Amino acid sequence: MSGPDSEVAVMAAPERPAVSFIVPCHNEELVVEAAAQALLELIEQQHDIGRCGPRSMVLLVDDGSSDRTWELIEQLTLAHPGRIAGLLLSRNVGHQHALLAGLSIAPGDVLISIDADLQDDLGVIPQMLDYYQQGHDIVYGVRRGRPTDTRLKRMTAAWFYRLMRRLGVDVIDNHADYRLMSRRAVEMLRRYDEVNLFLRGIVRLIGLRSAQVLYDRRERAAGSSKYSLSRMSGLAIDGITSFSAVPLRVISMLGLLTSLFALAVSVWVLVVALTNPSAVPGWASTVLPVTFIGGVQILSIGVLGEYIGKIYMETKRRPRFIVDRIVGLPGDDSERDAQRRQ
Ligand code: UDP
Ligand code: MG
Repeated sequence: MSGPDSEVAVMAAPERPAVSFIVPCHNEELVVEAAAQALLELIEQQHDIGRCGPRSMVLLVDDGSSDRTWELIEQLTLAHPGRIAGLLLSRNVGHQHALLAGLSIAPGDVLISIDADLQDDLGVIPQMLDYYQQGHDIVYGVRRGRPTDTRLKRMTAAWFYRLMRRLGVDVIDNHADYRLMSRRAVEMLRRYDEVNLFLRGIVRLIGLRSAQVLYDRRERAAGSSKYSLSRMSGLAIDGITSFSAVPLRVISMLGLLTSLFALAVSVWVLVVALTNPSAVPGWASTVLPVTFIGGVQILSIGVLGEYIGKIYMETKRRPRFIVDRIVGLPGDDSERDAQRRQ
């Protein structure tokens, strides 16, 4: 081809972004292959219509699985060189840190984080890429509803988002970690080097131009949720205490109110004692304030403890994840592994 057309083609080529999908996997042997397959198909499709570049790929992050997940990931990288890469973390560090590890290592101009269980609708990816092309650095995938979640999960999630907003934390309702970020946004994210990581809060702090796409969340393709109730409440408490000091202020106010109350009770007790010498002080006026104030104190110490725990963890500056092995990326560990096996 020659003439002005070929020039346009040459100039347009670099505009097609290399898209990397980051997929955290913790004991996902039942779904990891299907997830990789679905993402590969999507990449081919989007590549054919010119939405993503030839260096687009899938990075599967094994977050300390104890099943065959890593074995399957290694097989996938061999079967699809250049398209699939694997990252093995040295142990289970949790969804948020696994995602961060993937985001830190993945190449590409556009990084899309998505769960391995295919609950998030891949159908909205073209829309996400369109927003990117229009100049948005972050595109949030937002669930339209939660028909497949349990009632308990729906209710607790609604409370959580409402509470976060009340506490002045900027979160997007029903956005988990299905998200597109430009390279620029990821570099900014990496400057937030806190150990108590609540990504969906931090990404909001970055700012930049962002958009939202709505999707319906499906049932898990297979396997079971890796987020137990206690893990979920852990994430919620981390989210609140990493982003808001309002609970500290609330306990100060509580302290003030209970002190005023205690003062009023003491005045009353004193007045009764002075004006009515025969009065036997009632047990209520003794026991009630003691138990009440005791309760408030323990609660307050608990809240303080949450924050002190955070400070403790942050001061250690421990690495947030340790990479055991990378396969399928340039300069990775597969050659070294092969040599060792010989
Ligand atoms: N996950 C992870 N490390 C963990 C727990 C979960 O990488 O310690 C991954 C998991 O494999 C999945 C994603 O995080 O890809 C979301 O987990 P899950 O689907 O179990 O959570 P739910 O959708 O039930 O909230
Ligand atoms: Mg899930």
